[in-house]
Amino acid sequence: MEAWPSVLVATPVHSGLGEVLSYRHPTTLPAGTLVRVPLGARDVLGIVRDCPASPPEGLDPASARAVSVVLEGLPPLSAGWLQLLRFAAQYYQRSMGEVALGSLPPPLRDLDATQLARRLKRLAKPSPVGGAPGPTDAPRVLHDEQAAALAGIQAADRPVLLFGATGSGKTEVYLQAAEAELTARPDAQVLVLVPEINLTPQLEARLRARFEARFGSGAVVCLHSGLTPAQRLAGWLTAHTGRARIVLGTRMAVFASLPGLRLIVVDEEHDPSYKSQDGARHSARDLAVYRAKVEGCRVVLGSATPSLESWHAAEQGRYRRLDMPGRIGGGRLPRLRLVDMNHQPKGALLAPPLLQAMTERVARGEQCLVLLNRRGYAPVLACHACGWKSGCPHCSAYRVFHKIDRSLRCHHCGTASRVPRACPDCGNLDIAPVGRGTEQLEEQLTELLTEVRRPDGSPVRVARMDADSTRLKGALEAQLDALHSGEVDVLVGTQMVAKGHDFRRITLVAALNADAALFASDHRAPERLFALLMQAGGRAGRDAQHSEGSELWVQTWHPAHSLFTHLRTHDFAGFASAELGEREAAGMPPFAHQALLRADARTQEAAQGFLNAAARAAADLPGTDDITLYPAVPLTIQRVANVERAQLLVEAVSRPVLQRFLAAWQPLLLACRSDPAARGLLRFAVDVDPLSL
Ligand code: ADP
Ligand code: ZN
Ligand code: ZN
Repeated sequence: MEAWPSVLVATPVHSGLGEVLSYRHPTTLPAGTLVRVPLGARDVLGIVRDCPASPPEGLDPASARAVSVVLEGLPPLSAGWLQLLRFAAQYYQRSMGEVALGSLPPPLRDLDATQLARRLKRLAKPSPVGGAPGPTDAPRVLHDEQAAALAGIQAADRPVLLFGATGSGKTEVYLQAAEAELTARPDAQVLVLVPEINLTPQLEARLRARFEARFGSGAVVCLHSGLTPAQRLAGWLTAHTGRARIVLGTRMAVFASLPGLRLIVVDEEHDPSYKSQDGARHSARDLAVYRAKVEGCRVVLGSATPSLESWHAAEQGRYRRLDMPGRIGGGRLPRLRLVDMNHQPKGALLAPPLLQAMTERVARGEQCLVLLNRRGYAPVLACHACGWKSGCPHCSAYRVFHKIDRSLRCHHCGTASRVPRACPDCGNLDIAPVGRGTEQLEEQLTELLTEVRRPDGSPVRVARMDADSTRLKGALEAQLDALHSGEVDVLVGTQMVAKGHDFRRITLVAALNADAALFASDHRAPERLFALLMQAGGRAGRDAQHSEGSELWVQTWHPAHSLFTHLRTHDFAGFASAELGEREAAGMPPFAHQALLRADARTQEAAQGFLNAAARAAADLPGTDDITLYPAVPLTIQRVANVERAQLLVEAVSRPVLQRFLAAWQPLLLACRSDPAARGLLRFAVDVDPLSL
């Protein structure tokens, strides 16, 4: 019987095409079927949203085009998956076709039916069970806190917030929760989300070691943007066809097709990388919670420093909080040592007592970790004769001096050039770096520690880990190995080093320039600083053997700041309730709900002109009393790659109010593009629940 499938295709909200297009097909097709359909002169991949038996209103049956190909080898996407994508599109103000098609692995868009059949056949080859090569890992006997947490997860009727100290054994709890689901049902699947896969290579290894021998060598697959397109396709297909039992991935993996999904784990749930910074700008953590509700499966959010959103949800009873305060092996959390920079020699990068402490530790064969949130050698190069500074010609930012290759590099647009011999403005030969970055810190520490010897008499080894040192493929793994094997004594790096690693002999962690976050205008800055310091400190003393004297050093000009009071006692709960109190008083999230309208344009006037037009248009919408529109402002870094950027903050008393407003506003925004004041506008985007303002 002839049917009239409505098909999702990748049309952006802006295209005005509508997000579903109607076609005809000789038989009815189940929702979720993957098809290829003609669009203009091309054939594109589409997903059947539904399939009415009669042509939809307004469609002339005579002119309707036919579905070109049905990708028969693939089971349809599930109703739960379609619901997740429908919700994500609605919530983040995009079209469903754009979000749904955008979430599929890119090669799927180009494969014809024969090529696809070939791939599927290759994947269907049986994989050996039991004989999987590589190390195996048996489940540990759980400690009491872990056992209670596991039981709590299995009994929970709502999302679980697993609040466990660094080193409390959260991973073991995830693994055993996963194992229970996989054993209970032969088709069960588990999704494990991590912020950045490269920083946690141990987790992938552990999952494989734990599960491949039991569930086959294809049981664990990874999904993240570092894979080749072919790998991504293979991973996606194994998950979609149910062969993969465990999917480990980054935020993109929240959209993986998992017909047997029984458990979602969001590790380090506080991490800002879960929020996408382009496209639909979705929060994978929030979508994981939604997805679990739709699928009727469990979801566990784990962290030693939960986001205030999740903490608040637990306080309200929407999430169930389970605590694991103890560390495995009884290792103690490090003691806080605040260095009051008001009493240190002027211009010292490292305060003398800190340097002294580091020297003693490396001489004893222990490791130190030093955090400095600025890569490069110096953030700016300046001429003291005329005041020239190494500004970027394309951005309102300075180019950073990298001594290693004597380059000036803009960290915003990527522009790089060689360091000039003399000042470009006055010819003065004496141009000098101002301020310090990780490269310089590494150089200085190497010098300062050159006389120091390790217990075996060999010289101290200093290494650096940041986005520059790990750019090359395999570099990060090599550096982590060097650290784990004890070749490195002092590791200098950006916040990258504070995440997830399990370093055995680190007994001292130092943060050099934490102050900026204390007084930042961004209301999330203290939360992020606290998390960073707790996480960094958590790297120290993971071995009880080395934990006794472990220390977290923080250099600050404001030692009396209340954040340090809670840090001293490792009191996240105290910090969270103080911070939430301030947020509530100031009407900030999670007590208010925000969205940003962002505009990119050739001129700042055009960017703001568009935003102002949008604000005027909003005034005519009904029910805007509970909505606050703030004035349009330039972004902190106003110009990047010759594009001027501005934004407008929208605030609402509740999520539904904000959602209703945004939905009504969206069509007006399209019209505002042609406002005369917006001439020169390049693009705009709505960012719902923005992480930074
Ligand atoms: P977290 O993720 O909470 O920081 P991990 O899961 O990495 O902590 O656990 C810390 C260390 O303790 C790991 O080396 C892990 O193998 C070990 N561990 C965890 N649970 C147990 C257990 N029940 N018995 C013995 N060792 C354990
Ligand atoms: Zn000059
Ligand atoms: Zn630039």
